[in-house]
Amino acid sequence: MPTGFIVKALSGYYYVLPEDSQSAESIQCRARGIFKKRGISPLVGDRVIYQLTENGEGTVDEILPRTSELVRPPVANVDLVVLVFSVDEPALNLPLLDKFLVHTESAGLDALICLTKHDLLADSREHGGPLELESVIKLYESIGYTILVTSAKEGVGVDKVMDQLSGRISVFAGQSGVGKSSLLNAMVPGLQLETNQISMKLGRGKHTTRHVELIRLQNGGIVADTPGFSQLDFLQVDAEGLGGCFREFAPFAAECRFRGCLHLHEPGCKVQEAADAGLIAATRYENYLQFLGEIRDKKRRY
Ligand code: GDP
Ligand code: ZN
Repeated sequence: MPTGFIVKALSGYYYVLPEDSQSAESIQCRARGIFKKRGISPLVGDRVIYQLTENGEGTVDEILPRTSELVRPPVANVDLVVLVFSVDEPALNLPLLDKFLVHTESAGLDALICLTKHDLLADSREHGGPLELESVIKLYESIGYTILVTSAKEGVGVDKVMDQLSGRISVFAGQSGVGKSSLLNAMVPGLQLETNQISMKLGRGKHTTRHVELIRLQNGGIVADTPGFSQLDFLQVDAEGLGGCFREFAPFAAECRFRGCLHLHEPGCKVQEAADAGLIAATRYENYLQFLGEIRDKKRRY
């Protein structure tokens, strides 16, 4: 029986892209009644077993086990979250990057950091822009993340991003205006997602619920056309779990005197010592403390 991916869900139909074909044609399918009875509904991103019916349509017969399930956008089997940040306009926001990384780590998803609008740095070379960028790249690489620099405007780095997406299901995430749509448009011939923020000023666009659709890249990668979590809160992560979302803390945290150490001001805390000694980057430790405060405030409020 053939398998495929659900690339779109609309008005009770599921659009299934056959897995074994390079064609971009999807098959319009109904879900079998059994799903409703079991209280499950197929999600975009699901790998399914389907069957063709006589009229060229089909039925979704079975959902294969999911490896992950995102809520926003609602996509199953996401392997990679591309965290998109512009080097300028808006300015690179490292606390937000670290917050996104906490989310991807806690969700067990791989993250690719993509710094966009590199062309904007050319003008700022005199005021030390690129130098700072170098240190940011070094920092995140040293932690173990892949970080790429792109310019959709000049077509720089787009291929490298595509290479990372090959064979995976990816979702782009990031503030509005950082260039997510432009990057997707640069990767997919013929794609024309709306770019620029005029739609926001008119009060539509970012706030209207859009149907998420998956797009197949020429190299077999699959990307969602709707950005993922742009606003974040820490409901999923508790104070004890936060440190585990900062990968580079691990070797030090393992040596802390107390189990469940929050790396705040406990005696014998090796994470604090490492931050003091510059073995953990100051920005990362500061952001950790900031998030810890936010999590605790939240707890107090609920
Ligand atoms: P999104 O909200 O994250 O999807 O961002 P958009 O793709 O809509 O881009 C926001 C604005 O940034 C638009 O005006 C784009 O033209 C601009 N932009 C996107 N990519 C680049 C780039 O590589 N260089 C420059 N200079 N501007 C860009
Ligand atoms: Zn500690």
